[in-house]
Amino acid sequence: MTTNNLVLDDVTLTYPDGDGRLTALDAVSLDVPAGTLTAVVGPSGSGKSSLLAVAATLVTPDSGRVVVAGEDIGPLDQAAKARLRRERIGIVFQQPNLLPSLNTLEQLEVMAHLSGRKDGAVRERAMTLLGAVGLADQAHKRPHQLSGGQRQRVNIARALMNEPSVLLVDEPTSALDHERGAAVMELLAGLTRERGTATVLVTHDRTHLGRADRTVTVRDGRLTEDASV
Ligand code: ADP
Ligand code: MG
Repeated sequence: MTTNNLVLDDVTLTYPDGDGRLTALDAVSLDVPAGTLTAVVGPSGSGKSSLLAVAATLVTPDSGRVVVAGEDIGPLDQAAKARLRRERIGIVFQQPNLLPSLNTLEQLEVMAHLSGRKDGAVRERAMTLLGAVGLADQAHKRPHQLSGGQRQRVNIARALMNEPSVLLVDEPTSALDHERGAAVMELLAGLTRERGTATVLVTHDRTHLGRADRTVTVRDGRLTEDASV
């Protein structure tokens, strides 16, 4: 049975630190059902980005299990993980990293092409997603012609291009003013429901947490239920 959820089960991650090890994630367990958005808050350096990196299969934990859309990634080799990332995981980093020479539509299309899809449905899907993020009329603009908020919307649409099961978002509103930040949160919450992704969103900005189905706090690598919302 395939379920489009994300499960972290008792995940511990350490990094080398001088003579010892620094514990970035300490026995973290998290179950994110499909179609729901979990917000992750916590002080800087507490392990939030490490949690996303493990969920994204970019970093292998010391122990514990990561299950993406029903698939335990433990036994997968690097090539299989790269394929899983392309096909099942959408990643939105803080900085959009759009390709300067491509227009908005092409930023999305290139994602499908990397997965070996080149049919006419690709353009149609790209246009549908640009509509969903309110950028249908910006399809032929290049990144330098877009505002910061618009670039972040392209970033989000691009992450959804391959119909991921899991959507991982790291501080998407940190470079935006409050109003644009609220709009991006609203958009992510809506897309999560519409597209049924298991979404994990790291944010500094507690004012947007009302849009999340659940909020957890990470502190010194330990995850707890957020009591203050
Ligand atoms: P956050 O995103 O909450 O600010 P991070 O997950 O980036 O926190 O970092 C958690 C801890 O792990 C910090 O102490 C950070 O310095 C450390 N850390 C993060 N990435 C690495 C790395 N690649 N190598 C060594 N230490 C790291
Ligand atoms: Mg971080």
